[in-house]
Amino acid sequence: MKLEKSAELFRKGQKHLVGAVNSPVRAFKSVGGVPVFIDHARGSRIFDVDENEYVDLVLSYGPMILGHRHKKVERSIKKALKKGYTFGASTNKEIKLAKIVCDAFPGMDKVRFVNSGTEAVLSAIRLARAFTGHNKIIKFSGCYHGHSDALLVAAGSGLATLSMPGSKGVPDEAVKNTLIAEFNNLDSVKKHMDAQNDIAAVIIEPIAGNMGVVTPDQAFIDDLRTITRDKGILLIADEVMTGFRSKFGGAQELLGFEADITCLGKVIGGGFPVGAYGARNEIMELVAPLGGMYQAGTLSGNPIAMACGIATLKELKRQNPYKSFDKKAKKIKAMLLESAEKHGIDIQVNHFGSMVNVFFTKQEVTDFKSAQSCNTENFKVFFWQMMEHGVFLPPSQFEAWFLSSALGKADLKKIEQAIDISMAKVAEKQK
Ligand SMILES: *Cc1c(COP(=O)(O)O)cnc(C)c1O
Repeated sequence: MKLEKSAELFRKGQKHLVGAVNSPVRAFKSVGGVPVFIDHARGSRIFDVDENEYVDLVLSYGPMILGHRHKKVERSIKKALKKGYTFGASTNKEIKLAKIVCDAFPGMDKVRFVNSGTEAVLSAIRLARAFTGHNKIIKFSGCYHGHSDALLVAAGSGLATLSMPGSKGVPDEAVKNTLIAEFNNLDSVKKHMDAQNDIAAVIIEPIAGNMGVVTPDQAFIDDLRTITRDKGILLIADEVMTGFRSKFGGAQELLGFEADITCLGKVIGGGFPVGAYGARNEIMELVAPLGGMYQAGTLSGNPIAMACGIATLKELKRQNPYKSFDKKAKKIKAMLLESAEKHGIDIQVNHFGSMVNVFFTKQEVTDFKSAQSCNTENFKVFFWQMMEHGVFLPPSQFEAWFLSSALGKADLKKIEQAIDISMAKVAEKQK
């Protein structure tokens, strides 16, 4: 596989960028080798600077749900560009996107747009504290909620593959109010609730995607909703990954529950930097200018980003690809299982909606601990073989693969062939 130009850029980039990247996972550290530099993308495919072509199952870690450069989306962005880039005053576009979002999430009367998922979550936590007057939050081991201080503990994928338990530079005081529970384990939540009375919120990725895809037991979600409601603790659904992806109304629509505060990101901006948090009126009225919780942003609600978000969500709603996502994900799951069995490799495949994950382990993966039982050496071999055979995967055992609605029959065929060759190689190396 030719990666000369990527290698050259990777070398050049080291001088003024940290590790030649702006987000750690892009450095391919957990799989080794040269990280690809991208030249362009269209539809279901992405092309690197060495002119290698891949079926894209990264999709910028989720946002490009329609595939790249959808015609209608691009038209909207171009139209918006002609009017100016940012004004520091409101536009009608923000109102339009807010309506689409609030219609999709029945628990949201009002929404505030921000610039990233991290920002959405850290604002939601502040809001939960403002509303309840309490300080502590419960998070689940292996769930990632962005890189704000208070949430950078037991935080899944990026940290897991860098073998970092948390991050340097986070003061003890910043995490002393963060309590850790185990995913799919209500007792671990109850234990904290029995021991503390200063709990503002429980935050969860309702379908975990940052320790690999880990699906929740329905009873776990239902009980978590009941117990938080009974105790006056807010339930924050971090749907930055799952919003508009699991279903148009996110994991909440798929699993049939309503969070108190919902965080969004990724798909909502269609590839532009947009995040959002929202809740019922009673809660959102605490946010400035209506209330005393301060949160602001120079570029929040940026008109180009809003135009892209509106066009993406409108087209997504029109296409309603969720059934077909599920079908395609099941197909990929079957391909993986069949090929692994043929070549004698132990794997687990988790899938939920349009998110799929292969885990190189015998053990069923239901939480962070079981996810960590993976043979990451096998993943490395598998990853590079998939790349070589034209499938762009997230370069980490603990990142979900994403499907786009642009993914067609030819792409699935290509994925199937790549999987079979790659599993054979894993078997060969394992011997
Ligand atoms: C990606 C992600 C975030 C962080 O979003 P950024 O836009 O990267 O800041 C937060 N929560 C979840 C569940 C995510 O998947």
